[in-house]
Amino acid sequence: MPDFDQQNASPGAIRSVVVAGGGTAGWMAATYLAARFEGRGIGITLVESHEIGTIGVGEATVPAIRDFFRMIGLHDFDVLRATGGTPKLGIDFAGWAGEGTRFFHPFGLYGLSSRGVPFHQYWLKLAQAGLGRDLGDYSLCTEMARNGAFMLPVDNPVNDLAVFDWAVHFDASRFAAMLRDLGQRRGVRLIDDVITRTVTDGETGHITSLETRGGLSIAGDLFIDCTGFRALLLGEVMGSSWVDWTDLLPCDRAVAMPCAASGGFDRPYTTSTARKAGWQWRIPLQHRVGNGYVYASAHISDDEAAATLRAHLEGEALAEPNLIRFGAGHRREFWRGNCIGVGLAAGFLEPLESTSITLIQTALEKLVDLFPDRACDPALADEFNRATTLEYERIRDFLILHYHANRRHGEPLWDQMRAAPLPEKLAHKLSLWRARGKLVRYEWEAFFDPSWLSMYAGFGIMPAAHDPMADYFTDAQVVEALDHMREAIRAAAAHARPARDFLARLAPEASRAAAPVGVG
Ligand code: FAD
Repeated sequence: MPDFDQQNASPGAIRSVVVAGGGTAGWMAATYLAARFEGRGIGITLVESHEIGTIGVGEATVPAIRDFFRMIGLHDFDVLRATGGTPKLGIDFAGWAGEGTRFFHPFGLYGLSSRGVPFHQYWLKLAQAGLGRDLGDYSLCTEMARNGAFMLPVDNPVNDLAVFDWAVHFDASRFAAMLRDLGQRRGVRLIDDVITRTVTDGETGHITSLETRGGLSIAGDLFIDCTGFRALLLGEVMGSSWVDWTDLLPCDRAVAMPCAASGGFDRPYTTSTARKAGWQWRIPLQHRVGNGYVYASAHISDDEAAATLRAHLEGEALAEPNLIRFGAGHRREFWRGNCIGVGLAAGFLEPLESTSITLIQTALEKLVDLFPDRACDPALADEFNRATTLEYERIRDFLILHYHANRRHGEPLWDQMRAAPLPEKLAHKLSLWRARGKLVRYEWEAFFDPSWLSMYAGFGIMPAAHDPMADYFTDAQVVEALDHMREAIRAAAAHARPARDFLARLAPEASRAAAPVGVG
């Protein structure tokens, strides 16, 4: 494509974007905008400070991240190799439905629909007749996870039932370094300095420049605040207030501690294990395992949380415990004037479903979709704020369901969460599920029907009835059809290789030979 002719740009077009902050959010923003606006004459400057550093956690993702890789010109294998990454088929939830229980939230579909009736209605019909099987038996993703096996969707035998997707685990600091290198090669100007002052225009209220400790003044038309929890621009200067959700999601701290990857890579998924006052993550990488205990400080001390985490490490600890404080919530306005908050500067939801990085990605996609000129018409910001608020609320509700449905009796946090009032839309979803297995989808859902189904089934929340349309078939016919599906899933899963073998494919030669990856 020829370079964009500056003459084509309207006089009010944005010419310079300043990204404040160089964590995962800052570098994702800079590389994404550099890729989308390549040749358009828009200068991108990123200011970060090695003195302040990044949060350094955030290592599990959802499948959409692979679209992001493609958009900025990276191959999945390049990322896995550069970041010590591994593939992720979903999340294994241990102990949430009571000590000793486990269920899997897969990145893939369950079974096949028939005569316009979703699969799960037939599954419910059999369950109600006492003929039910584990829902995971009808998911290729779950079957592979059970076997500790993995394959790329393109290596999968063609089979309507075998639709699945995958995400990645990666080392957050290596990922940021990879993006920093890529961004600079794509022309992003990097300034390593501490931002000390944000200058605004007295008339419009728009940000005009950032001043640094080193004496620089960095002017721009549009400012992306990626300064992490402190939200230096959007919060402190533009005054976007904080919407607090700690009453709905009371976990407010995490202690993180990596350990050695002993035993090799045999679990191609994240593990979330419920503990007394929260839950523990296990994120397998090639060179180490990331671990953390997310907890409610009202129910456990920091020392006890760290000791609990240490006691449950599966390998030698590789660092001292890293304590991180946070709160669930978001900025009331994600975009105000000519400033857009992305990443932790925009909001935070605990990492139970690995959603922060995907929220960075969707914020950038929305920004490009609504990209303003220098006047920054407030209608664009309003739409961005409306959509992003809905997106946060839908994820929040999905997370709350995990806590609400828990079956850990006799532990104060868990007892409290079962009894807590639910947000209206979540209560509505649950009542329709309970009535007849009806799955409700609102605008800006990040998690679709199979994800909700995995939770309902995993926690054993069974509806009073199923869709009468499923009664077109007899129980015996449904048993036969579902048995066929199960066999087909097993046959497809047999093509997957042990997960550790997949890592061998990351060798440079294998990467070059690999076909473009995956289902979208
Ligand atoms: P930060 O990493 O904090 O970066 C802020 C940047 O701003 C830094 O570069 C800093 O130097 C710069 N900065 C700040 N002030 C100044 C200044 N005055 N001058 C110059 N520069 C400045 N997300 C997931 O998707 N999956 C997960 O599994 C996951 N796990 C998580 C676990 C925990 C316990 C927590 C707290 C978060 C987790 N997240 C996860 C979220 C994820 O870590 C973040 O979304 C991601 O790292 C983005 O952070 P950030 O770039 O917004 O902020």
